[in-house]
Amino acid sequence: MFATAFLDLPPLQSASGTVQLPGSKSISNRVLLLAALATGRTVIHDLLDSDDTRVMLTALEQLGCGVERSVGGVPTDVAVTGLAGVPPKNAAKLFLGNAGTAMRPLTAALAVLGGDFALSGVPRMHERPIGDLVDALRQLGCQIDYTGNDGFPPLKVGQPSLKLDAPIAVRGDVSSQFLTALLLALPLVAKQDIHIDVIGELISKPYIEITLNLLTKFGIHVKRDGWQRFTISQGASYQSPGEIWVEADASSASYFIALGAISTPATGSIRIEGLSENAIQGDIRFVDAARLMGAQITSGANHLEISKGAWPFTAIDLDCNHIPDAAMTLAIMALYAEGTTTLRNIASWRVKETDRISAMATELRKLGATVVDGHDFISVTPPAASDWKPASIHTYDDHRIAMCFSLAAFNPAGVAVRIEDPKCVAKTFPNYFETLFEVVKPRSVPVICVDGPTASGKGTLASRVAQQLGFHYLDSGALYRLTALAAKQQGIAWDDEAALAKIAAHLPVVFEGQAVLLNEDDVSELIRSEEMGIGASKVSVFPAVRDALTALQHSFARLPGLVADGRDMGTVIFPAAPLKIFLTASSATRAERRYKQLISKGISAKLDILRADLEARDLRDSSRASAPLKAAEGAVLLDNSGQTIEESVEFVLNQWRSKLGL
Ligand code: C5P
Repeated sequence: MFATAFLDLPPLQSASGTVQLPGSKSISNRVLLLAALATGRTVIHDLLDSDDTRVMLTALEQLGCGVERSVGGVPTDVAVTGLAGVPPKNAAKLFLGNAGTAMRPLTAALAVLGGDFALSGVPRMHERPIGDLVDALRQLGCQIDYTGNDGFPPLKVGQPSLKLDAPIAVRGDVSSQFLTALLLALPLVAKQDIHIDVIGELISKPYIEITLNLLTKFGIHVKRDGWQRFTISQGASYQSPGEIWVEADASSASYFIALGAISTPATGSIRIEGLSENAIQGDIRFVDAARLMGAQITSGANHLEISKGAWPFTAIDLDCNHIPDAAMTLAIMALYAEGTTTLRNIASWRVKETDRISAMATELRKLGATVVDGHDFISVTPPAASDWKPASIHTYDDHRIAMCFSLAAFNPAGVAVRIEDPKCVAKTFPNYFETLFEVVKPRSVPVICVDGPTASGKGTLASRVAQQLGFHYLDSGALYRLTALAAKQQGIAWDDEAALAKIAAHLPVVFEGQAVLLNEDDVSELIRSEEMGIGASKVSVFPAVRDALTALQHSFARLPGLVADGRDMGTVIFPAAPLKIFLTASSATRAERRYKQLISKGISAKLDILRADLEARDLRDSSRASAPLKAAEGAVLLDNSGQTIEESVEFVLNQWRSKLGL
């Protein structure tokens, strides 16, 4: 996950490959509860691993269900052995975090089963209304008390005396989760036909369809009369299906469906595993909308395959009420359409994580689009190919804004797109950007080079800049130090060019976070010694050694970008890098820094000797024939003698931002 303040996406060119998406949240928690109530053991495949499912699993364990995690070693496979309709014997205090999909149905199920239960959550959960559900459950004789504020969790649940002959009334116009909760709970007590009447216009019908569909898989066939009356037949009882697969999240799939349609070269395609066109989630209907715009989509039993169809896309005018979340992705596809795309009947966007109509309009305009927005619609006209503007996209703590705007990086003008607060995707898809980077190809991977003499502070500067940007980091000096160390270990002299080159070509090195492993031994400290610094400086004069390390250095350039430090990053290894910094400091300053560093590690040192060594090494590095140390053409000179590290980092980040035109 990118926990950086922002993530810079370079211009992207194409995409192809296979993606596995996280499981649907709505399905995951419903299936967990159904498995917990059923008779038998259910193996649940592809369960979403999130805060909401974790609290549910813990609660089920407390209630006496058998819970096996990572079945067969697969982290997303979980087995639950159900209660078989028998009420839990022991009292339990259940903490349900902020998971509405756990609080509501568990309240209903436990209230009809009966026992001694306390249900609570985080403070925000105690502000989320549950009164309509409690009223419905009390009508049928359940014993539920509010232990905080009336109408809200926390709750206490006791023994019911059930009266099931009269129809049970539940409001449908506040949250469909109340009806879902009753539908999941009442089969536990179906000694006679039970009727549920919905009061008011039922909202979020696709979610009720998910509930009904999953009930069928566990042996319960609910009869329904339109969306007004639901009947659970006498004798209904939960049976485990043995195994069940959680569909991949259809809203998350919309980004990859759009990706396939925007960017796939004629020969490739994007394949999404874990989801088919017959998925039970409402947002799967995004495929129809994407097709209208020109996407080519085929569906298998458990996958979707998307390739490029019409290009540019066809502009559409569409009622998106049935796919409110996924429709945000259409607003981005509109950037690649000919003409104006209008998405209608999306008033619900205004009351989501943020006011999504206004947020989308603001951010689309930053990229150069012409946007008209109203109370319940948005119209998007893309900029001409040359009129796209680089933009820093504000994400409003809204995961969907972050994910859909990443697709703007395919713009024909090749301008950069900065996504602010990228970690907001964690709400539904913590590894969204990593998954995206696995299948997209950039026009080129951005590289920032930091070259300079020894002890100028390149390493600290480069690694901090990399950290701030979420970029990879290459300490090229470490490769020369490793070559010197490996040579010493094998008894090879530091002037034997041919033998050194052989070693360099097959360095058994692994970079693990901060640690450097050679032949699986952690040599991070060992290569930092003065001895290996001098060795590196000696072995690095040989062209054959330098050539042998080139491919390894290139392999570090991966999305979202690289910060590389050394002597010849800008001159030889990454000559096309968009930003090159040449870092210097006086030899006195550098000797002093090295001195303090060594003393702080308890290593004794002499200032004048250190300075003489540094100057000798500078001379060797800058006078050698092969890749001598010098500022690359176009490099920005930075003398950090009088700067703090923070100031230097800020300087480089500002240079980078202005390179991107932000
Ligand atoms: O940067 P560091 O002090 O770790 O580098 C050790 C030595 O490796 C340098 O003195 C230099 O001789 C050599 N080197 C190089 N080219 C690089 C990085 C380091 O020649 N890109």
